[in-house]
Amino acid sequence: MRRIVDIGRRIELIPIDPHFHDITIGLYCQQVADTTAGTGFPAFLVHTYSQMKGATGRIQEVVQAMQILGGMQKTDDGLLYFPCKHPHEAACRRVFLEACKLASNTPAEPRPLNILDRKSRLTITVDATGNGTYQVRANGEGRGATRRISAIAGGLMKLGEMESGATDNNDTVRFACGQSHDALVGLLLVRAPNVRVVLREQEMGASRGVLSAPSQQT
Ligand SMILES: [Zn+2]
Repeated sequence: MRRIVDIGRRIELIPIDPHFHDITIGLYCQQVADTTAGTGFPAFLVHTYSQMKGATGRIQEVVQAMQILGGMQKTDDGLLYFPCKHPHEAACRRVFLEACKLASNTPAEPRPLNILDRKSRLTITVDATGNGTYQVRANGEGRGATRRISAIAGGLMKLGEMESGATDNNDTVRFACGQSHDALVGLLLVRAPNVRVVLREQEMGASRGVLSAPSQQT
């Protein structure tokens, strides 16, 4: 008998997982009931339709990596969510993609809040200043530092659906939920200097994903 399970809306797809027998892994968004608050909140399911032995273990690896890389929590049913219970859907998609890039048995580690920006050779640091706000700064006042800071802040805004902060320097970004997400910012910071390339890849991946999407039925 065919059974259709509503696993939610698919928001991201890895058509071929090179680290586990080329299986397809999807990220789905669901609404979960919050009994204490009497409302619901969005939670994310990592799922594969593959029946291959070990596939469940690979999914568990990805879930665990997402908890570490994105600072996410897990419901009793194994769904992931952010502690603030806001969707942060674009950011969650990045966390998923980065988690799937890790090979099996590679322990995930939270990324630091600084990177070396290859383009400017500056070390870029992001400071949490409270209420979900982060300030981007560069060591030294090298040529183009101000421009790189605002470009990287812009990258964080695009990748994490963050808002511009309340300064005129284009160096401050904030999460609409007003809460801090240090692990998430560290993860997004790695890609923020190359945001254009990242978004182009994402678009290409999405169109490939549509072509190779598995059946929604089990
Ligand atoms: Zn949040």
